[in-house]
Amino acid sequence: MTELKTKIGLEIHVQLKTKSKMFCRCDNDAQGKVPNTTVCPVCLGLPGTLPVANRQAIEWTIKTGLALGCKILETAKFDRKHYFYPDLPKGYQISQYDEPFCLGGGLEIDGVKVRLNRIHLEEDAGKLVHSGNSSLVDLNRAGTPLMEIVTEPDITTPAQAGDFLRRLQKIVRDVVEVSEASMEKGHMRCDANISVSDGEQMSQIIEIKNLNSFRFVEKALTKAEEKLKSEHADWPTKLSKETWGYDSDKDTVYLQRTKEEASDYRYFPDPDLPPINSSEFDLEALAQNVQDTEAAKISFLTPLGISEADAKILVSNKTRFDFYNHLVNELTEDSAKVIAAKALVHKYFPFDIDAEDSEKADAYSWAILSLRSSQINKAKFGVLTQKIHDGVSIEEIKKESDGDKVGDDKIVKIVDEIIASNPSEVERYRGGDKKLLGFFIGLAMKETKGSANPQTINRILNEKL
Ligand code: ZN
Ligand code: MN
Repeated sequence: MTELKTKIGLEIHVQLKTKSKMFCRCDNDAQGKVPNTTVCPVCLGLPGTLPVANRQAIEWTIKTGLALGCKILETAKFDRKHYFYPDLPKGYQISQYDEPFCLGGGLEIDGVKVRLNRIHLEEDAGKLVHSGNSSLVDLNRAGTPLMEIVTEPDITTPAQAGDFLRRLQKIVRDVVEVSEASMEKGHMRCDANISVSDGEQMSQIIEIKNLNSFRFVEKALTKAEEKLKSEHADWPTKLSKETWGYDSDKDTVYLQRTKEEASDYRYFPDPDLPPINSSEFDLEALAQNVQDTEAAKISFLTPLGISEADAKILVSNKTRFDFYNHLVNELTEDSAKVIAAKALVHKYFPFDIDAEDSEKADAYSWAILSLRSSQINKAKFGVLTQKIHDGVSIEEIKKESDGDKVGDDKIVKIVDEIIASNPSEVERYRGGDKKLLGFFIGLAMKETKGSANPQTINRILNEKL
């Protein structure tokens, strides 16, 4: 059977927690307010009013872009996106078309790099409140700044989509601190698109809109994926797009509409808003600011496989964290970095780390690597690192520790003796009873009183048998 591959992309709207709205001075916090009270002629879209862009919202969008590795465009501009809906008083939304603030960037989730297409800034619309036979309009939310984050379809499973959103929520809420990012309260809203391919042909691209919890995103995508896979034989022969809804009560997806044409929003630059140059912002300071937060530090540690609890302890002490970063410069593999973090957090080092230890990071990294390859155990690690801490040179320590170890020559001799004195086991092993390897290793360990490296014994046994 052909392998079916899933591609998922996300579009996330994040409400910024600025004091005032995107283009006017109105209170940006509409939560619990009497309808149509946090409004003014600008956000009501009355003729003759002029929007003024909220500098804080732009700065926060750029800051988010920096945290996500985006390219910050030298010039960005606002465009009008036209469509008609009762909650959109101007008949257009101020958004960004071809020159958004941020392009590219990405987040690594479960070892998969999810690329970002862009981050742009726009204003929110109002809300329709349905009561009985009538629909009422509440414009308190109209003009609220929204950051729209668009990914490429690089996500491969519904669970990964959930992980992506949880990571993104942490970043906007705790690292750059630009949004309360509650899905429940609608600060973060997600549209997902999904398609399945068999290598030659592709299913229709399904868009599922307004998913308001991480769980619903995962469930809706799971259902859509199942359905697309089961309809493999009926996939369309040319590119087709459909919008599906998700019924959370029944946990099912259903067709809402087929998209025949791309909508024509008749974008054009908003003549009331001048283009924005990134040189108006201190990008270096913003980037530094992002890296310095504790949450940012933690967000770089956990993807390596370091637990959140360990990461918190690790970054809580400056000297220790500096030392960790010096170690990491010497260690290339993630697994070694995880061991370094563990050793620091769980006190494998029998002394308090001081500033001088950072200068001996190369010696300590050697001890970390020895621990990882189980050439030494935790106790031995403690003894070695204490010596490094006390100023013993690494050459001396290496010489000493080699002396402790049973050399290859001696192991070869022991293995030869074991083979000579257990002929029937050797014959059975060579006849295919591979489980006997453990028996030989046990004998060799006993002969060396446990002081030899099991991997060396294993290697020599394999050569001889
Ligand atoms: Zn207003
Ligand atoms: Mn949007």
